[in-house]
Amino acid sequence: MDQINKTHKIEHHTVIIVGGGPAGLPIAAVLGGWHPYYRESAIFSQRYPELAAYLSPYRSTLLGLDFAKLGDNGIPPIDLFHLLHHPRRIFQELSQIALEFRQEDPIDYLLITQEEVGGLWNNAPENLLTLSPGQWMEFAFFPLAQYIQEQSVNLSVNDLICKRDLIRYYHQIPGRFDLVNHIHTHEKIVRIEPHERGFHLTSRDVGTQTMHQYTCKYLVYAVGQRCILRKLDVPGEDLPFVVNRYDRPESFDGDRIVVVGGGRSADWAATELYDAQKEVYYVMRQSFERHWRLINDSRDGLPYYARIAEIIESRDPRFQTLYNSHIQKIEDKPKNGLVTVNNNGHQKLIDVDHVVIEIGGTADYSLFNGFPALRFKEKYDSYRFQVHQVETKPYSSEVTNIPNLYMGGYLAEGLGLVVIAMHPTTYTIAADILQKEGIYNRQNP
Ligand SMILES: Cc1cc2nc3c(=O)[nH]c(=O)nc-3n(C[C@H](O)[C@H](O)[C@H](O)COP(=O)(O)OP(=O)(O)OC[C@H]3O[C@@H](n4cnc5c(N)ncnc54)[C@H](O)[C@@H]3O)c2cc1C
Repeated sequence: MDQINKTHKIEHHTVIIVGGGPAGLPIAAVLGGWHPYYRESAIFSQRYPELAAYLSPYRSTLLGLDFAKLGDNGIPPIDLFHLLHHPRRIFQELSQIALEFRQEDPIDYLLITQEEVGGLWNNAPENLLTLSPGQWMEFAFFPLAQYIQEQSVNLSVNDLICKRDLIRYYHQIPGRFDLVNHIHTHEKIVRIEPHERGFHLTSRDVGTQTMHQYTCKYLVYAVGQRCILRKLDVPGEDLPFVVNRYDRPESFDGDRIVVVGGGRSADWAATELYDAQKEVYYVMRQSFERHWRLINDSRDGLPYYARIAEIIESRDPRFQTLYNSHIQKIEDKPKNGLVTVNNNGHQKLIDVDHVVIEIGGTADYSLFNGFPALRFKEKYDSYRFQVHQVETKPYSSEVTNIPNLYMGGYLAEGLGLVVIAMHPTTYTIAADILQKEGIYNRQNP
């Protein structure tokens, strides 16, 4: 039974961040005192001379900018931070980044996350490659190139980066930026309620199951889009040979595997299992045309899409795609599993050793109790990510109808579903909080 830890009083912090992924973790670093300043960059000045001229007399931290006024003047702050960090697509040298970070006093904050820092990348397939160059996944205060220099790592920042390397980079951040004492890992927030001091949070330790309580004035909700993994809701889904997380081929003994999905994660699993000599049955609800459009559009830029295109074109019977199909049931037979699939209206039985279900997840907003209802907007990207974003103010990610509640990462309205689009919100969220606290006054050059 859940037991509230009564030996500790309710712990109060000025800011609590829920979720330590690529959205929440950098906000912790900036609240921890790592504040951005403009610095001259030849490439930034050459490409954006008006912005460079505007910012060069500004000696204060950029967290003091009046973002609403900037936005009204045609400089959306998210675009500004994006350009300062990535003034060109290719990384050549550290001095191209028109930002420097100076260590100032931290504000009182706590980051609570139910895994290690690094978010869903902790559980991504071991060999998964990103959609974009490694440097697009980095935080501006710790460029990958700097990490490579400091740690003598062998990586090329303009190439796609694989999960193993990316998660190592994220795991370095708390120690490198002195955040360790402000981060609770393996702790899950289970309830969020209004409180006279702002927000009241209840959490459960993932290991010991001990319950804790916190209050805070500002809450940053950065839990990502995979809090609740989708289910097929068919009989047999909980059998031991059925998994909803693909890791690597070595985790699967036997030869015959059904992969259920149709998005990027399922494509990766099906391809890698096939290349490991498994017999793959790839079951998708979508049509061939819809699946093929994404593969064909991506095959020239991304090696893993080139590979799945090649496999499908080979028509090798060891890789069978079942479109317009859905699983009806999964059964445990004496020698193996049996999967019943409705394939275009016809029933098909497949003997299997394993079933891998990769059908995505959803953000969990059910933790909020006693607040005005959050207003949602649905958002998709071309790689089939899908998120219910919350209506937020454009220049701060503050929820429109709940003051001092900020949505981190993709959960904020209108953000594109790639990390490079969410990173600039680190500064707009942190700046809004620091300005409300009177640490910086809103002031433009
Ligand atoms: C398979 C896959 C591949 C992807 N590849 C790319 C890519 O190549 N490039 C790209 O830009 N984006 C990619 N994405 C998008 C991806 O969402 C981002 O890379 C990024 O991880 C999102 O960051 P986040 O911090 O918003 O969420 P997450 O990474 O999901 O982190 C949120 C963290 O909060 C934790 N959490 C959730 N609920 C609670 C709770 N109640 N209490 C405490 N902690 C909680 C979660 O467990 C998680 O650790 C990919 C996504 C997937 C699924």
